[in-house]
Amino acid sequence: MPKKSLLKAIPKVDKFIEDPQFKDLSKTVLLPLVRAKFDTLRKEILNDKVTSINEVELRSGILEKYHDIMRPSLQKVINATGVIVHTNLGRSLINPESFDRAKEIATSYNNLEYDLEKGKRGERYSHLSSLFTKLLDCEDVLVVNNNASAVFLVLNTFAKRKEVIVSRGELVEIGGSFRIPEVMKNSGAKLVEVGTTNKTHLSDYTDNITHRTKMLMKVHKSNYAIEGFSSEVEFKDISKLAKVYDLLDYYDLGSGHLVDLPYGLNNSERSLKKIMKDDPSLVSFSGDKLFGSVQAGFIIGKKELIAKLKKNQLLRMLRVDKLTLSILTEDIKSYLLEEYKNIPTLNMLFKDVSELKTNAKVLTDEIQDIVNYEVIDTTTLIGGGSTPNRKIPSVAVTIKIKNYSPNKIQTLFREKNIIGRIEDDTFLLDFRTIELKDINYIKESIKCLVTS
Ligand SMILES: *Cc1c(COP(=O)(O)O)cnc(C)c1O
Repeated sequence: MPKKSLLKAIPKVDKFIEDPQFKDLSKTVLLPLVRAKFDTLRKEILNDKVTSINEVELRSGILEKYHDIMRPSLQKVINATGVIVHTNLGRSLINPESFDRAKEIATSYNNLEYDLEKGKRGERYSHLSSLFTKLLDCEDVLVVNNNASAVFLVLNTFAKRKEVIVSRGELVEIGGSFRIPEVMKNSGAKLVEVGTTNKTHLSDYTDNITHRTKMLMKVHKSNYAIEGFSSEVEFKDISKLAKVYDLLDYYDLGSGHLVDLPYGLNNSERSLKKIMKDDPSLVSFSGDKLFGSVQAGFIIGKKELIAKLKKNQLLRMLRVDKLTLSILTEDIKSYLLEEYKNIPTLNMLFKDVSELKTNAKVLTDEIQDIVNYEVIDTTTLIGGGSTPNRKIPSVAVTIKIKNYSPNKIQTLFREKNIIGRIEDDTFLLDFRTIELKDINYIKESIKCLVTS
């Protein structure tokens, strides 16, 4: 076809989008796609790169692009890595019942900042404090956007232009560029590093206390361990020392957990209940790590200190909304009732190996004839900076497909939003984090992979 006729054969945009296939689509998204496609087409015709125009193909190409754009980027994935609190995969799962309750609150008006008894303005933080203070037998609590905000708010409120003493062994960097020295600097507090990388003694704290010192801070070594010739000062000793010198003691606990951990992890990781027995000034921890709820940061401790935090203007920028408060309240109730099954993170953590094996068998019974697999004993991490370097037992199903490398298999699974891991040069699905309700989807995906 001559160029001129080809150019003429390009459909009119208005006409083109009248096609029934485009009927319910967003014109705001569609129109620029069509125009861009036609512009390119025009150029290609002029450069002799196109010799015919096929409207059906044009439409399907544009539809595909349209759906690519409209598909939500944030999607459900299946966590088959075995890492329970996986920061890249959304950390802790929210209990569906807590979520339902939050939905009811958030889709109606509510008394978020209204005192129903007095009929006047109330305080959003009050909804949670009465329950939570019972749970941990603490004077008061404040919830902010996440634990990073908690650290920042505490330092900014109490230690601006003052000195905060931290051990050199605890100057952590958490994924996503949270670094204690930087956070400290931005908060206005002056970091005083004491001790060495591997050893810090109580005298290192004592020797560095000056009239500018405001706080002794301990930071949980969330994602690393210092082993061998090493020692650190326990929080209870730091706490005692702070009292002697009339300073604040603050523990950035990172993960923080309320129930005793299984697999002997409790020896190295003290629970919040035990830490509160040291009578600390302030402790903060995340809502969506081992606590197993929604993204939030808890600051617990002395009533008069929490009151000062509430007066900081910054709190307005770090405050949590009704969804968060509602979900946290429901989960705190589960803790009070000791219904740990309602906290998905704990539920996964406490599953014993025989239950994991049973779940693995639900899958393997279905894929027997279609793929090479093996059920193996393995180990995994809790994640979320809760118990660095400590492994817990787990069960996995290895998947082998002829002529495919483990990397290739991993990619194929990832295309189905199933995130597994490679161990000993083999791709595997770890059942510590796989939920029963997803096994059918995994099975269908495997069938699909093998036959396509
Ligand atoms: C995870 C962690 C933080 C940050 O908490 P987020 O809830 O992710 O903001 C701060 N400090 C420590 C020690 C942590 O482990």
